[in-house]
Amino acid sequence: MYITPTLNDSEPTSKPRAIAVLTSGGDCPGMNPAIRGVVRAALHKGIKVFGVQRGYSGLIIGDMQEMDSSSVSNIVQRGGTFLKSDRCPAFKDPAVRYQAAEVLKEKGIDAVVVIGGDGSLTGAHLLTSENDIRVIGLPGTIDNDIYGTDLTIGFDTAVNTAVEAIDRIRDTALSHESLFLVEVMGRNSGFIATHVGIACGAEMIIIPEYELQIDAICFQLVNNRLQGKSSSGIIVVAEGPKPGVTTNIAKQLNQQELDPKVCILGHIQRGGSPSGHDRVLASCLGTSAVDYLCAGYNDVMIGVQNGKIKETPLHQIIENNKQLDNQLFERALMLHK
Ligand code: ADP
Repeated sequence: MYITPTLNDSEPTSKPRAIAVLTSGGDCPGMNPAIRGVVRAALHKGIKVFGVQRGYSGLIIGDMQEMDSSSVSNIVQRGGTFLKSDRCPAFKDPAVRYQAAEVLKEKGIDAVVVIGGDGSLTGAHLLTSENDIRVIGLPGTIDNDIYGTDLTIGFDTAVNTAVEAIDRIRDTALSHESLFLVEVMGRNSGFIATHVGIACGAEMIIIPEYELQIDAICFQLVNNRLQGKSSSGIIVVAEGPKPGVTTNIAKQLNQQELDPKVCILGHIQRGGSPSGHDRVLASCLGTSAVDYLCAGYNDVMIGVQNGKIKETPLHQIIENNKQLDNQLFERALMLHK
């Protein structure tokens, strides 16, 4: 499905002696097949590989086990991360990162694959900048908001999960001729909301990238009602940076007696069995991470760009924000009634 670059194991010295793999930050479906990809590719190349428990929290105390091929059997279909994930604020301290590097060196590990979102990738970049440990990042988040990759691991599954839920809500909206505001995840970005809105035929999509025109929305809904059109339907709302956005919109619609029902999908979007697409993406990225290490790369994230596996320096990932494709959102607007 993805075109993988041909990388040469250039210098025998580039080949890591042992690799540690960890998952950090918010979990997402597809982390397990990504771990499996790293482990199986490392073993295939005769490299020792260790699974770190609870992300950076486990790294700093050396909570890691050497893995063999069967350590990653029967996980490809499981959601979440079997290595567990954690937030570890202590990792922002350079002294703690030094401690983690020393732990790795003691165990003979000279490279780490970090699977996580932009926070986790920032930690990975700092770890290698300050210490003699090589790192490769993989984009793991349902939000799809990471620069340097068209897709993140977990996004496809989260979109499918939300679409399935909204299809069910649609049955009730139609039966009761009611209006639903459905809030989906995505933090500051409207990737999930836009894709979900298109896929489930939403009557409107509200995302942080476009200023909320609540008066215009009320006007259109009231107008529909005055013209005798059904006021039932689904409005997909991206959660945005501040919680409660959907409840506030509902309050304003209530003032116009539109009486919307609010449904916040929440964490059901983060769990569940990864989609076939996410399993393939995660497997390609996980195995590629080992190829890149053997070819001498360091301090890069491996993602997909235009159907090809491609590396991007981690500092660029941290410095840049990924923008939603305006044309896609405009297409979504075209699809509204
Ligand atoms: P995500 O990786 O999903 O974006 P977070 O932003 O919570 O999630 O980051 C996950 C972890 O990555 C943090 O708990 C911390 O251990 C590490 N991290 C985040 N930001 C930094 C930073 N600026 N410096 C070092 N480590 C960081």
